Amino acid sequence: MLKPLLCISLLLPAALSCSGQNPIENQGAWFKGNTHTHTLWSDGDGAPEVSVAWYRENDYQFLVLSDHNIFQDQERWFPVSEDGKKRLKPAELGQLIEQFGADAVQIREVDGQREMLLLTLSELKERFESNGEFLLIPGEEVTGSYKKHPVHINAVNIAEVIPALQGDSVSDQMNKTMDAIVAHGHEHGLSTLAHLNHPNFGWGFTWEEVASMRADRFFEVYNGHQGVRNHGDAEHASTEEIWDRANMLRMTELDLPPLFGLATDDAHNYHGAITSQSGRGWIMVRSESLESNAIVEAMKRGDFYASSGVTLVDVQRGDSEYRIEIDAQEGVQYTTQFIGGEVIGEGLNDAGKVLFKTNDNPAIYAYSGKELYVRAVVTSSKDHPNPYAAGDKETAWTQPIEVASKP
Ligand SMILES: [Zn+2]
Ligand SMILES: [Zn+2]
Repeated sequence: MLKPLLCISLLLPAALSCSGQNPIENQGAWFKGNTHTHTLWSDGDGAPEVSVAWYRENDYQFLVLSDHNIFQDQERWFPVSEDGKKRLKPAELGQLIEQFGADAVQIREVDGQREMLLLTLSELKERFESNGEFLLIPGEEVTGSYKKHPVHINAVNIAEVIPALQGDSVSDQMNKTMDAIVAHGHEHGLSTLAHLNHPNFGWGFTWEEVASMRADRFFEVYNGHQGVRNHGDAEHASTEEIWDRANMLRMTELDLPPLFGLATDDAHNYHGAITSQSGRGWIMVRSESLESNAIVEAMKRGDFYASSGVTLVDVQRGDSEYRIEIDAQEGVQYTTQFIGGEVIGEGLNDAGKVLFKTNDNPAIYAYSGKELYVRAVVTSSKDHPNPYAAGDKETAWTQPIEVASKP
């Protein structure tokens, strides 16, 4: 018998809880955002205002600057690379002055070395934010490694820097870092979110290690940096395979809810280098307001999707069916795959099973009752214009819903 576990969001107000056709997501408007971005504050090649201006001009409504182990809240002078061999080349400084005006760029000279003052987050907020239109959410990529395995966790909506921690294993280090991010949120009265970044970067994580995430439930199914191995290889699962295997392990053995997947661009390059350019992947969050706590709360409800180009009008993870309405472009075909996991025998799982595939719009899947969870992937016939990997199509990934009772 179908036994929906739709009341997972016990924190929801009563009016939004399990009543009506669409118990989880039917509130608010869609906001486009990126939660993983670098600037000169760490290893990006763009001044922070170059980065922020790009997202604002390209119709994003929110942005998280997530520099490595630093918060943009101090006085920092960045050297100008006069020979053009390092970041902040003289020509880029010239562009900056042309774009924002000489008064907006502070330069000094110390012992014959020119330096530029980096704008702080509060200065960036003052210059770029506008109510209901554009929001900067404070963040950091808490960056460490365990025995050469990168452990990079983004902290979203934080008040100050969170130091990187060392653990006894990849899994322990991830969980200690996520625990610290959650504790930080409690301490500062913020809805703070932690997401595991690029699990295949440096083959940092096995899918079992990803599955062991406890304090939060977010990971990057798509990261636009060309070094992160989203597609895996002959010996390593792709990020989508990691997602499904991890979800089944979490739901059958670990008593944990399925993971939610993000797309980010992990931008570092704003001056022509192609490794990690802004705009390759993002999230769309359905929130009642464009406010940091509200955006994070909507994500914790799973009311968001990841995209590398496909836009959705509506996603309803209902009591009896999963329904997706695509904002279809003329002349473009869309294939929606509903993917889930089923238990097929004692200790045997069918993870990542394609339950139903359709070209219809809206795409609708009625649960059979055998699935533990259902999620969906919408793939366009259109090539990604600036792909992570050659041949990538524009795609959207929606979040899993728990369907059947656990065995
Ligand atoms: Zn990283
Ligand atoms: Zn990064």
